[in-house]
Amino acid sequence: MSNKNILVLGAGVSGLTTALKLLESGHKVTIWSKDPAGESPATSFNAYAFWLPVKSDQDLRVERWANETYAAFEQLARNTSSGVVMRKVFELKVSQEEPWYGQKLPFFRHAAPNEVTNQYKDAHILDSAPVIDPVVYLPWLRSKVAAYGAIFAQKEVSSLSECPAEFELIVNCTALGARQLLGDQELYPARLQVLKLKHNGFDQVVFDSEGPNKLCCVVPQSDYIKVGAVYDERNESMEVDDEVTAGILDRVTKMIPGFKADPQDVLSVTRCLRPKRAATRVEPEKLADGRWVVHNYGHNDTGYIISFGVAAEVAGYAVTLQ
Ligand SMILES: Cc1cc2nc3c(=O)[nH]c(=O)nc-3n(C[C@H](O)[C@H](O)[C@H](O)COP(=O)(O)OP(=O)(O)OC[C@H]3O[C@@H](n4cnc5c(N)ncnc54)[C@H](O)[C@@H]3O)c2cc1C
Repeated sequence: MSNKNILVLGAGVSGLTTALKLLESGHKVTIWSKDPAGESPATSFNAYAFWLPVKSDQDLRVERWANETYAAFEQLARNTSSGVVMRKVFELKVSQEEPWYGQKLPFFRHAAPNEVTNQYKDAHILDSAPVIDPVVYLPWLRSKVAAYGAIFAQKEVSSLSECPAEFELIVNCTALGARQLLGDQELYPARLQVLKLKHNGFDQVVFDSEGPNKLCCVVPQSDYIKVGAVYDERNESMEVDDEVTAGILDRVTKMIPGFKADPQDVLSVTRCLRPKRAATRVEPEKLADGRWVVHNYGHNDTGYIISFGVAAEVAGYAVTLQ
């Protein structure tokens, strides 16, 4: 196998996981990102970051990527410093139906009658799914990547042709940044508002995707509980809205009776943007100078869910592309 000198653009969950896989395969990796390392990028840092089964009719690889990623996170959950734990995940439902993955996942079950309130008819429950705390996991991942010898720099690239010739392969993990970088018109932002609450002891992920508290989502981490959302497409204002905050607090207490979420429990409020695209773009493209770029962006709400599977796919391209 020929080891390459590779430039990864982007240091969110996609860029860092891809860098890790490339380093594990023996490549030399440099990572450039527009945002400063530390508290950014906003999208990966503010995600709920839990695992759900996903598939896509547009790209049959997605289901496999998710399954591979489940296995990787399940391993990482054994390492207490990684920020990954396994928790119960409840998707509250207003009807009884079998999800597409019902027969595929041994850790899936429907709710028992005493597990849902009378607002709901059922819950799709994953008894053990990875929940990742981005505040712990991303720095952990970055230090793992650094320990393998990756070189980090804060640099914004405005054209792929700017990437110096010493890099034999470029991997594009720029998420929404690909709009400017490539002019990809299929990408657009979906804006969410999320709150961090003081911990109240609640320890399960619960979300309502269709019912009376639609889009409300609760994700406990070890030091705080993340609650959202409100979903708003093609709006990039990062200004937080106090009425939205009040609405989220109201819905979460309706969704989970007895859940303590008072205004004084709010530690922070953030707006963040998901990179929306009809299909995640994971494919190689030949540049005018004969080099290859492998695109890995447009992950919507699955950036964590498929991160390790996609990264392994990109590492495969790094071997085969000449
Ligand atoms: C509230 C919320 C909840 C979510 N919940 C989940 C969930 O539960 N599970 C899940 O899997 N996903 C979830 N997501 C989606 C997930 O956060 C994203 O899919 C994921 O973070 C995308 O990661 P990324 O690394 O591709 O992008 P980003 O985190 O946006 O990183 C992009 C990187 O590219 C860099 N960059 C951009 N342009 C340039 C340029 N021109 N030159 C150099 N660098 C550049 C940036 O500096 C940054 O480092 C959620 C998102 C939000 C907002």
